[in-house]
Amino acid sequence: MKIPKVDPNKCSGCGNCEAICPEVFELGDDDQSHVITNDFGGLEACIEAAVENCPEDAITYEEE
Ligand code: SF4
Repeated sequence: MKIPKVDPNKCSGCGNCEAICPEVFELGDDDQSHVITNDFGGLEACIEAAVENCPEDAITYEEE
């Protein structure tokens, strides 16, 4: 299964991923995006859109 992850060393907290795919990504109090679910069923397209629209290339979405 493909798992999205955010690299905290790259994330600038811009909020694009949360705006695009709020079911999966949420900005925390630390101004970093966090993956907030383990159930990615049906969310593949929005996760991929978040990956493509992350200006820091901070999101990976790969097979585990
Ligand atoms: S789009 Fe990228 S840089 Fe912006 S909050 Fe999400 S992970 Fe961080």
